[in-house]
Amino acid sequence: MFSGIDFDIKERVKQATDIVDLIGSYLPLRRQGAMFVANCPWHDDKRPSFQINPARQTWTCWVCGIRGDVFSFVMRRENLEFADALKILADRAGIPFTPGGKKIVKGSPDDKQVLYKAMEWAQSLFHDCLLHDEDADLVRSYLATRNLTSDSIVRFGLGFSPLATNWLFDRSRTTNFSPEILEACDLLVKRDQGHGYFERFRGRLMFPIKDTLNRTIAFGGRVVPGIFPAGQEPPAKYVNSRETKLFSKSDNLYGLNLAADETSRTRHLTVVEGYTDVIAVRQAGVQGVVAALGTAINERHIRLLKRYAERVTLLLDGDAAGKKRANEVLDFFVAESLDLRILTLPEGQDPCDFVQQHSGAELQKLIDAAPDALEHKIRYETLGIDLGRDTHAANRALENILQTLAVAPTSLAKTSADVSLRFEQLLARLGREFSVDRESLKKRLAALRSKNQTFESPGHEPEESRRRPPLDLAEKELIELLLINYELVGEIVETVETHEFSPGPLKQIYQCICDSHHDSLDVSFEGLLLILEDSSLKDLVIQLDEQAIAKQSSNGFDVRWQLDVVLAEFEKRKKSAGHRQLIGRLEQKQMDAREEEIALTELLEIMRQRKSISAPTEG
Ligand SMILES: [Zn+2]
Repeated sequence: MFSGIDFDIKERVKQATDIVDLIGSYLPLRRQGAMFVANCPWHDDKRPSFQINPARQTWTCWVCGIRGDVFSFVMRRENLEFADALKILADRAGIPFTPGGKKIVKGSPDDKQVLYKAMEWAQSLFHDCLLHDEDADLVRSYLATRNLTSDSIVRFGLGFSPLATNWLFDRSRTTNFSPEILEACDLLVKRDQGHGYFERFRGRLMFPIKDTLNRTIAFGGRVVPGIFPAGQEPPAKYVNSRETKLFSKSDNLYGLNLAADETSRTRHLTVVEGYTDVIAVRQAGVQGVVAALGTAINERHIRLLKRYAERVTLLLDGDAAGKKRANEVLDFFVAESLDLRILTLPEGQDPCDFVQQHSGAELQKLIDAAPDALEHKIRYETLGIDLGRDTHAANRALENILQTLAVAPTSLAKTSADVSLRFEQLLARLGREFSVDRESLKKRLAALRSKNQTFESPGHEPEESRRRPPLDLAEKELIELLLINYELVGEIVETVETHEFSPGPLKQIYQCICDSHHDSLDVSFEGLLLILEDSSLKDLVIQLDEQAIAKQSSNGFDVRWQLDVVLAEFEKRKKSAGHRQLIGRLEQKQMDAREEEIALTELLEIMRQRKSISAPTEG
């Protein structure tokens, strides 16, 4: 249940993170009395149902019926396990957190916090330069010819790194950013001979690459025609930052910082090929657009996409290379059970051209109607083959298609009626086109599947399967009482043992309370929230605490009386469990004469007690 992370680090991160700040960096917030409200990111929220309680540092969506703290917000929002959410929050708060790693010297090139700051500083210098400097005149007119508006330039934070030698380096002299730090950011590059540095992005239009927390982690730089003197243009039109401590090109996507927010409800992302495509398409009003960073889409990108989308549309330039690329990544998507659509633009057009010649709305229409990936696969594999005559090629094409179908997780077919229906349709269609009966197709598919067993990943449990069974009333009351009167914990832990709880979330919480009390940890509401790492347990604790507070404030509530009632119930259960056990042993004749006599006396005593208790109602 626990990641084994030191309690101290959790506490430091929690203390350094304000829930209003954190959620405010994801959602627009509005103050409402002592609370803040927002539109819930997890349902189609017309009026703000998502409430943040700064005093308790918790959040609740009243419609979804879910609650949590800073950790569970990041866990849900980014689809992460506790340890990864903690890492993000530690990072954000500038708390070094490297489980088992070496100690990082603050302010050194190993210190990610200082690298983030240096990147932010450079980004704003480049941006200001593009907006205001004479040096950037040519770049501004270039952007105008590409029809990029100043709104887009600001939204995407575009910049310009002038041609002047040492432009960035000279400006760093008045900062704390040493050449080593700028080198660790890949802004400066050491010269081969070891003397001095040159600037990686000299004379380029700058596209800052941001992570989902909106931090600049890298740059893409593009040569702008006319900036370099004739004959001196660098060979590469595009240059990206190399991998640094902040940046890995397979773990990030261009535009995801903006797209993730826009698509938190639709869960639909569109992947285009270039940075300017992202900007132009977004400018035309199509939301949720991202691009890979100077590399082909790979498995890690797909896992990243999956955190934000259930459906992904690959928007390809209308050339053969684009179709081939789509075909190459298709198996990854199918294996990850992402709903992949593939949209190929008319011959010779890229998304930029398309939105200029037509409109964003028309592109959106095409995106919404894009055929799914398996359809693309069939078209791609059968292109130019006469299925009736060229049996050899037809067989190979069919085998390739079935191979892709076979990597689809079988559990997928179980989860959605749509998907399994789609699957049946595809098989029927393959049967018709290749003149093969459906049963042999299924057999072949099953054979390929058993060969592919390793493809199937367990993945995350769907939310439904974690829905809570009804909670035991006495167990629930006991936890509630503990939450509002944690000074009772010593007495309660002495009286009620964990095994007296029925298996389920309340037992897990009670176990955690007992263990933590034993380790002298704080088991107040706040302490317990911090100790628990599972977001559904956190949710339950917040809910129980809210209910307990409501009960406490009602008339005539007496903690002591309430506790005695609950403890009496546990006592009664223990007795009747013992009673059942005794009868069982008597029936199975597991006792000698002496034991039997004691047991019978005990049972008689229990029955007598019951009688005397129930006597008044009989009389
Ligand atoms: Zn909601």
